[in-house]
Parts: sequence; C-alpha cells; structure tokens
Amino acid sequence: MPAAALFLVVNFVIGLCFSAVFAVVSVYSRWRSAALLFSAGLFIASLTMLCELAVAYANNPRPWSIAVYGTVLAGLVLLHKGVGVLYDRPFPLWLATLTFVAGIAAYLWVRDIPRSWWGYGLFYQGPYALVTLSAAANVFLSKRRTTMDRALGVVLVVSGLHFFLKAALAAVMGPGATASTYISTNYAIMSQSITAVLIVAVGLMLLAVLTLDIMTVERGRAERDSLSGLANRRGFDKAVKKAVAKSGERRHAVILCDLDHFKSINDTYGHHAGDMVISAFGTMVGAQAGADAIVGRIGGEEFVVFLPDTSPAIALAVAETLRLGARKMMVPGLPGGFVVTASFGVAALLPKEGLEPALRQADLALYDAKRNGRDRVHQARAA
Ligand code: GH3
Ligand code: MG
Ligand code: MG
Repeated sequence: MPAAALFLVVNFVIGLCFSAVFAVVSVYSRWRSAALLFSAGLFIASLTMLCELAVAYANNPRPWSIAVYGTVLAGLVLLHKGVGVLYDRPFPLWLATLTFVAGIAAYLWVRDIPRSWWGYGLFYQGPYALVTLSAAANVFLSKRRTTMDRALGVVLVVSGLHFFLKAALAAVMGPGATASTYISTNYAIMSQSITAVLIVAVGLMLLAVLTLDIMTVERGRAERDSLSGLANRRGFDKAVKKAVAKSGERRHAVILCDLDHFKSINDTYGHHAGDMVISAFGTMVGAQAGADAIVGRIGGEEFVVFLPDTSPAIALAVAETLRLGARKMMVPGLPGGFVVTASFGVAALLPKEGLEPALRQADLALYDAKRNGRDRVHQARAA
C-alpha cells in the first residue's frame, strides 16, 4: 500500500469525525445552518479520499477523477457558504452553484492537458484557492472581529495559499504521469499530509468559533431573568462593577423598587397574573429609567436601577417617574382600573465604596417608604 493511500484513509477518518462533531454542535448553536453546512462540507470532502483510492485502483479512473475534483470543490463551496452564514456575509445559492459549475468546467478543460505542464497544477488548484481565499476575505470583511475570528481568517488565508504551494510542488515534484499513478508519487504523500494538517486546523478553528459563541450565549442566559427580560442579580452586579470601574470618581445612584402588597395580587388574581405584573413592571422600568441605566430584577418582586453619574436629586426624580409609571401600567389578567403601586428607596453610590453599601442604604429607604404607607419614594438618610 503506498504511503499516500494511508494518508487518504487518515484524512477520510479525520473529515468524518469533524463532520460528526459539527452535526452535534449544530444542535446547540444559534448558527445551526452554518454548523450543518460545515458538517455537510466535511462529509463530502472526506469522500474525496475514497474517490482518490478508486482513481488509483478502479479500471476506469476518469469518472472517479471528476468525483475527486467535485467533492473537494463542493466541500470548499459549502465551507464558504457556512462562513457566509456565520459572518453575516451571505454566499447566495446561485453564486455557490455557479462557482461549483465554473470550477468543474475549468477542471474538465485542464484534465486533458499533459500533467507534466507547469501550469497544470495552477489551473487544477486555482478554483480551490479562490473559493477558500474568498471565504477568508468574508471573515475579515465582517463586523465580527474577535481574536478567534482573526485566527480563523488567517488559517483560511493559509489554506487558500497552500493550493498554490501544491501547484508549485506538483510542477517541481511531478503529480504522476496519469491520475492513477498520482497515488504512488512523493508529491501525493506531501500533498495529503499538508491536507491532513489543514483539515485539522480549519476544523478546530471553526469549532472554536462556534463553541465560544455557544458559551457566550449561555453566559448571557445565566445573567438574565427570563420573566422580566432584565439582568438578574449576577448580571446586574457584573454590569454595575464594569460601569463603576470605568467611571472614575463620579457619584452614581441606585434605586430599589418593591411592588406593594404583591402577595395579595397573587392571592386574589392568581400567580399567573402576578407574573404578568412582574413582567409589565420590568418592561416599564427598563423603558423609563433612561438609556444609561442598568436595570435588574434581584428578587421575586424586587427590582434595582443603577443610574451612572447621577445626583440624588435626579435619581429621586427618576424614581418618581417610575412610581407614576407603575400606577399607569395596563396589566393583562388584572381587572381594568386596577392600580399597581410600588415603593422606592434611593441612595447614592460612591465608587470607592461600591454597590453593597449603596444597596443597604437604598433598602433602609425602601423600608421607610413601606412603613410610611407605600406607593412613595424615600431617599436614604446618608445621601
Ligand atoms: P409589601 O408591600 O410589604 O412588599 O408586601 P408584599 O406582599 O409585596 O411582600 P411579600 O414579600 O410578603 O410578598 C412577595 C410575594 O411575591 C411573595 C411571593 O409569593 C411572590 N413572588 C415572588 N416571586 C414571584 C414570581 O416570580 N411570580 C409571582 N407571581 N409571585 C412571586
Ligand atoms: Mg412587595
Ligand atoms: Mg419584596
């Protein structure tokens, strides 16, 4: 068995493994179709290896050599299409089909030219290189610019250029007198071993981009409350820490809000109606607290607002707006004319002290607001 045949088998297995992994990843990724395109592309490209063996050992190699060319090209076109989905730079089906057909036409033209001609490799590999480099260009031209995206772009550029390297190697080393003798050449060993490295490199990069995205989405979910759509305690703390860290010594404010007599809403109209109130209140606070505000739901019917670079007087005015906003809410599931009220505690947040003391102060103010009859705003005494 020639050494190149061994590489073909290895590449076949690597391709299939990656194809299976992308199929699994597609279940979890929001880029489902991209993952499926990568899976299909790798599956088809791995069939190349079987077709290569058929070229070497079948009686009539001609149809198999078209299959070799077509499976590699189809794999690359699907890769390009997947990259287009992932990077929001669509590679339309008509263009993908046209690219494939043009590539096959170029191959049919080149295959009857003597393989020993120096330009043979260039015309053979050219369409592969163009498709891969075009995919790389789309990565670089997209709006996504993380280190991982850059790394993928670089690997795709290297993969695209390597086809030219193969053309040069073919010219120097000789690709075999006929398609059937290719497998016994040193060029085939070289070519297939480079292919092995690049399938792994591109496969791992794409996998890293997709799995990092899944992790980012999951992390976002872990920091969000599903009922109100607002940040939960963890997300709120993280966002406030970030905002405070970059704000220098400026004074900020926090508002704690708690719905009044919420237990009786649950008891009278049902838990579902209670949920609707929480959802409506969250939406109202998110909309009215201001564009720079960070809003979170930090307890059952308790909400918090962080107002960056805001004086206590402005924070009191914002809290008053929210109080009136609660009274005006129309909540499905509650009788028309039912007025929901909430109480508010306002405190200053000093960057050097951090969030906790401010929340404690705001909580005391909220307690005062409750004790004094609810549906009102109180300011922390220290503020
Ligand atoms: P106060 O005016 O003093 O704040 O009275 P309250 O009834 O609002 O306060 P209390 O803390 O006694 O009750 C809060 C209730 O909120 C108790 C709990 O069952 C309810 N609750 C907590 N989380 C949820 C939720 O996600 N959905 C619904 N429907 N109810 C919730
Ligand atoms: Mg309450
Ligand atoms: Mg409460």
